[in-house]
Amino acid sequence: MADILKGNEVVTALNKELSEKVVSLKKEGIFPRLAIVRIGDKDSDISYEKGAIKRCETIGVSVLPVKLEEDITQIELEDNIKKLNQDKSVHGILIFRPLPKHLDENKICDMLLMDKDVDGVTKGSLAGVFTDSNDGFPPCTAEACVELLKYYGVNVAGKNVVIVGRSLVVGKPLSMMLLKQNATVTICHSKTKDLPKVCSKADILIVAVGSANMVNEQYVSAGQVVIDVGINMDQEGNLCGDVSYPNVSKIVKAITPVPGGVGSVTTSILAGHTINAAMRQGGM
Ligand code: NAP
Repeated sequence: MADILKGNEVVTALNKELSEKVVSLKKEGIFPRLAIVRIGDKDSDISYEKGAIKRCETIGVSVLPVKLEEDITQIELEDNIKKLNQDKSVHGILIFRPLPKHLDENKICDMLLMDKDVDGVTKGSLAGVFTDSNDGFPPCTAEACVELLKYYGVNVAGKNVVIVGRSLVVGKPLSMMLLKQNATVTICHSKTKDLPKVCSKADILIVAVGSANMVNEQYVSAGQVVIDVGINMDQEGNLCGDVSYPNVSKIVKAITPVPGGVGSVTTSILAGHTINAAMRQGGM
């Protein structure tokens, strides 16, 4: 059976390091604070928000929840973002997406101050990832994958990494982050030919597709490390990943579980970005 790459071990290590940073920041009179903007009452947003508040508070980062009505207008939302941009007590801003259809999501994302863009949604932050500069922040989920590999001592340099999924939240930024660490990266998507064959040749396989249990034993081979980013509901209504864990874990060397894998690391990364944002804004 495969080694299980549990997120909670990574979280414990990260939280310790981040809590220490917060203690030194508070001594300098800087109190890191994250605003979470939620429009409407989607169950998945509410559940992520609860988890993020709990995690941030454990670390010492305070959270300002900004709850807005589903029928908010574009102008009203822009006013809220402007206020948060100007509020010096707020160091990081997270906006739940997708926004309701009547709102211009690209415009809202690009209104965020890059220095407060702790989930890498602005073009400036993404340019930072693609140009290896320290502008903005990378998307938290992509960084959670990198952090998880690092914690478990998986050296990606020279390795053949296959990423399935090319979104701006996971696949594309993650490919650049691993390339920076000298991995040889292949990005796959819905038009990739013979996906099982491409995946089975990877040393490290990262799946971010959004399709319950899609990656089965035909996609993997012995010795691989498999990172499952997917968060889905199976037919019985249980949380599951993009990888069929019972089948794949019999073959590969190591695998992340869902739940309890990448997803659990993401909120610690978010808290970490808020702390770094507070440091930058405090001139440290
Ligand atoms: P997305 O924007 O919908 O992108 C999905 C990607 O998967 C696309 O590039 C798509 O290809 C590709 N794809 C879809 N079906 C495919 C197939 N049959 N074969 C190969 N590629 C296929 O999704 P996302 O936002 O990146 O999220 C992906 C998954 O990660 C979801 O389950 C989501 O819930 C989860 N997620 C988890 C976290 C976390 O914290 N753990 C955070 C964000 C997302 P095309 O580009 O060709 O359409």
